[in-house]
Amino acid sequence: MIKKDKDGKIDIIGMNLEEMVTTFVGLGLKKFNATQVFDWIHNKMVFNFDEFSNISKKDREFLKEHFYIAQLTFKTHQISDDKDTEKFLFELSDNRLIESVLISHKNRHTLCVSSQIGCLIGCDFCATATMTYERNLSASEILLQFYYVQKYLSERGERLGNVVYMGMGEPFLNYDSVIESINILNSPKGQNFSKRNFTVSTSGIVTGIEKFTENESQVNLAISLHSVRDDRRTEIMPINKRWGVQELKKALINYQKKTKNRITFEYILIDDFNCEYSDAFELADYLRSFSCLVNLIPYNPVKGKIYKTPSKSKQREFYKLLKDKNINVTLRETKGQDIAAACGQLKAKKEMENGTEN
Ligand code: SAH
Ligand code: SF4
Repeated sequence: MIKKDKDGKIDIIGMNLEEMVTTFVGLGLKKFNATQVFDWIHNKMVFNFDEFSNISKKDREFLKEHFYIAQLTFKTHQISDDKDTEKFLFELSDNRLIESVLISHKNRHTLCVSSQIGCLIGCDFCATATMTYERNLSASEILLQFYYVQKYLSERGERLGNVVYMGMGEPFLNYDSVIESINILNSPKGQNFSKRNFTVSTSGIVTGIEKFTENESQVNLAISLHSVRDDRRTEIMPINKRWGVQELKKALINYQKKTKNRITFEYILIDDFNCEYSDAFELADYLRSFSCLVNLIPYNPVKGKIYKTPSKSKQREFYKLLKDKNINVTLRETKGQDIAAACGQLKAKKEMENGTEN
């Protein structure tokens, strides 16, 4: 994606190889210079023009005149008591803060990236929704979250295995940058990260799902469902007023017909709200149309919110009800609760400590 700053310089990390070649050649550089620079950035993960040692000093100076390197500065790091969840707070070049979460299971590492600063969807249970919405992240800012953590893991000889777009923000409201970041990470000349290892999670933006169905048949899709009753879902997710559960279902049936991909449904368990016997019954009925996996997520308490996490036995009971109805279901352990690992919570905590709203 070609993105320029106020001085007209191009964001070099956000360009795919094709764009880099065209732009470089257009500026009088050689085609192979583009391949070299792409390799420095997206394969070697080097983000300093002066370190591009196979590019002449003159050409490096020329690059600095026409391009800029987006910044992502590490601020804080928190590791959960069980060591399985690690949370990173980063600062962007305009001083705004974003977070990424690394979730590890033995040697399997999943990175949860943010796609926006804040979120306009306004789900009532979510910490990100309490922040002021600032802006979309650029493709480069999404990529840099990946590169930072990939480098961090490489110090102990490990690598990322999966990337989920489940951090701050609604990925389908930043569609182009999200897809561009996936394409660049997928590039054989870059990380060569398989499209099958990405999951994009949406609150249910039907127009986004339709576009995704047409163009991104290999990337996994997750849907934040949380209730299949329109009145209930609308109560916690205002997006449901725009696209109700039946309209969502229609789009998802079409998605599955076209892509044959298994859909992941995220379902937060909120006490006295969506995890009674009748909820399991209705949920199972809704899901009958799909090949899917239901991920039950015990509600992660957010300061100032009324919602409560059901007891462990109630969680297991709901899990079992779905299992008995032959639904493919997992009950997520509440991981990293001690470090506020649910989306947006570290930033929200920091804002509260600083006494600021954004
Ligand atoms: N905006 C996208 C992706 C980011 S949110 C979406 O909504 O799908 C990622 C997931 O975290 C969503 O399923 C969301 O419902 C869930 N989530 C948000 N706040 C939570 C909380 N306090 N406890 C548990 N899950 C939460
Ligand atoms: Fe936005 Fe997702 Fe949070 Fe809803 S749950 S406010 S869509 S980040």
